[in-house]
Amino acid sequence: MKKDATRIVSAGRKPEWTGGIVNPPVWRASTILYDSVAELRGRGAADTHHKLFYGRRGTPTQWSLADALTELEPGAEATLLYPSGVAALTTALLAVLEPGDQLLMPDSAYDPTRNFANGMLKRIGVETIFYDPLIGGGIAALCTDRTKAILMESPGSLTFEVQDVPAIVGVAKQRGITTLIDNTWATPLLFPVIGLGVDYTILACTKYVVGHSDVMLGSVTAAPGHYQALRAATYELGQTASPDDAWLGARGLRTMAVRLDQHGRSALQVARWLKARPEVARVLHPALPDCPGHDIFARDFRGASGLFSFVLDGGSDAARTTLIDGLEHFGIGYSWGGFESLAIPVDPQRHRSATTWQAEGPLVRLQIGLEDPEDLIADLEAGLARFADARG
Ligand SMILES: *Cc1c(COP(=O)(O)O)cnc(C)c1O
Repeated sequence: MKKDATRIVSAGRKPEWTGGIVNPPVWRASTILYDSVAELRGRGAADTHHKLFYGRRGTPTQWSLADALTELEPGAEATLLYPSGVAALTTALLAVLEPGDQLLMPDSAYDPTRNFANGMLKRIGVETIFYDPLIGGGIAALCTDRTKAILMESPGSLTFEVQDVPAIVGVAKQRGITTLIDNTWATPLLFPVIGLGVDYTILACTKYVVGHSDVMLGSVTAAPGHYQALRAATYELGQTASPDDAWLGARGLRTMAVRLDQHGRSALQVARWLKARPEVARVLHPALPDCPGHDIFARDFRGASGLFSFVLDGGSDAARTTLIDGLEHFGIGYSWGGFESLAIPVDPQRHRSATTWQAEGPLVRLQIGLEDPEDLIADLEAGLARFADARG
């Protein structure tokens, strides 16, 4: 079988879509012209998967990226693209859930995912039960005959708890519950999940697939038997990603393996350095033992990406702010997965209901970019000195 680094170079490329062109060109379309009324009617009645029908259903530009993402998840049926990671998440959830259903969601879920559960899902009569991300097989105790779906996100947003995905999938399979995972942090390169029995895997392609901080894009890849429901919901909601954005996503994907490798190595170097600093209480990086679920990470993942948090030892929000505001190589901004480093203050206690977040001091989340890690470490060293001064 081809190795991932080989597969990612040509995945999704088909001669009938590209001719001899290496990267699929941008096929922009709304109207598709048919030769006759009979052909127009025939196409409408047929399965339009990967056939030109109407612009909203995509062109070879989107299909090529979608197919490439499917190829990276051995055993998957097919992938659809969305205008953002959040659109991918909400569409997948709406494909599965109906009024009266219960959804189980980790307490460490990405905040907009949580907002969707507490907002629109609640309004349409879907109840969300938040669970401890470290629950593992203990999730069986939360399942009722109304439990329709279990969402996972591993590691969790902000606090990086690693979930026991095989144990949760085992419980779900026994009970006929659909499983979904937000796999944005690891991507299929570091944690392929369809082979583990997950039904839907969701990526904010905005992050590592695009990799250059200039496009919003999401994807959902479905296991066999789950694609039709996803496609129906996607079409009903009118969800579509632009060909220009898909083209940039496909361009980014070609270098994702090398970028992830570098992000991962630099982030681990910075994380280990932080771990040894007296101003730092804990480093929440899945490859380090301080991180809840580290053993599961070591068992299940092929490596780590470039995003993690660290807990300061004491100090106020203002002391944390002096650390972040003075950084030279770290931008202050949301999102991650691009080539440049970022630092933000995060306050997980604001987003918890099933668990409580307690820490020795304030938390900082770092996205480690492609700069030289020694420059990043020097920058953080000066930042920790500012923090220590402010903390007193
Ligand atoms: C950023 C992010 C998303 C949302 O992606 P957008 O493209 O910004 O909508 C979803 N999940 C996780 C874990 C993320 O970090």
